[in-house]
Order: sequence, then C-alpha cells, then structure tokens
Amino acid sequence: MREVLAKITVDSKTRQIRDLSLLQKCFRFKCKRCATFCCRLGGPKLTRKDIERIEEAGYHVKDFLEPSKSEFKGMPIMRGSLKNREDGECIFLKSDAEQNRYECSIYDFRPILCRLYPFDFERIGSDSIVLKFIPCCRGLNNPHGKLVDERFVNKHLLAPLLEAVELF
Ligand code: SF4
Ligand code: SF4
Repeated sequence: MREVLAKITVDSKTRQIRDLSLLQKCFRFKCKRCATFCCRLGGPKLTRKDIERIEEAGYHVKDFLEPSKSEFKGMPIMRGSLKNREDGECIFLKSDAEQNRYECSIYDFRPILCRLYPFDFERIGSDSIVLKFIPCCRGLNNPHGKLVDERFVNKHLLAPLLEAVELF
C-alpha cells in the first residue's frame, strides 16, 4: 500500500515545481542501509536511460538485464528488470556482514526507481504528480532523518520523478 505525501505541479517549460502541497508535515527520512525491502525483493524495472547509465558504469547489458516482453499497440516491445541472485537480492547489492549494513555497488548509476525509493508516484495530469511513500521502509519517520519538504523534493526527488513520469 502506498500513502500520499504531497501533490506536485510542475511547470512544463522550466521543469521546476510550480506548486507543492504537503499532505504530511514533519515527515522525515533517513536510509538505514538495511536493504530489507528495497534491494532484496527482486530487481527494479529498468528504463532505456537506466540501461545506458549502467553500461556507462562498465557493465554489459547481457550481464544485468532480465528481459521481459510486453506489447504496445499490438507490437512486442522489450523491457526488463535488473537481474537477481537466487535469493532475490539484486546483483548489485553489496553487504558488510559484520555491520549488517548494505550498499549499492553502482550507487551513482543506479536505476530511477532505486533513486526514488521509498518514494513512489502517480501521474494525475499532464503536469501533476502525486508523491507517495512505501510505508514498510525502515527509514521513514526516522527522527534523525531529513525533513521531507519542498527543498528535499527539489534536491532528491524532482529529477528522477520527471524522468520516471516520462518513461513509465
Ligand atoms: S531504510 Fe528503506 S530505503 Fe533504506 S535500505 Fe532500508 S528499506 Fe531500503
Ligand atoms: S541497483 Fe543498487 S539500489 Fe537498486 S536494487 Fe540494486 S543494489 Fe539496490
């Protein structure tokens, strides 16, 4: 279940936020690097740009893309997800067993859905997006976390949100 955090209207020319109504104030987030829900439950869907970015990081597409077929206007199109290990972990997840902490080995090149997690979105018009959060994430409402306000959205979420709404 996704819960609603804010409604955002974007200026289509400048690609900047024109209006942001926060439905939950004082909401904080800090990742605990636990990887409990984000990186061990199957790889995320990839966009064409995600694939290009991971190739830029030095990986060959056949080593990381799990292709899936879907149709658009009756024509088959190829999409895909990141490959998993047998236990469902993403192939790019690195663990520090002693500290029980996890990190992403392609962090600077990670897919759009990973950049957004634990936030999610729904497009509700040509220039409007509902920003949601995935409540099972352990970093939500962390008192030491950053306040999720317009500044946070601008800095951390706007660019991946705009890329995602155009591509998914
Ligand atoms: S705190 Fe949330 S986003 Fe961070 S690793 Fe844990 S489940 Fe993933
Ligand atoms: S690419 Fe990185 S952030 Fe995304 S699921 Fe894999 S390990 Fe997690």
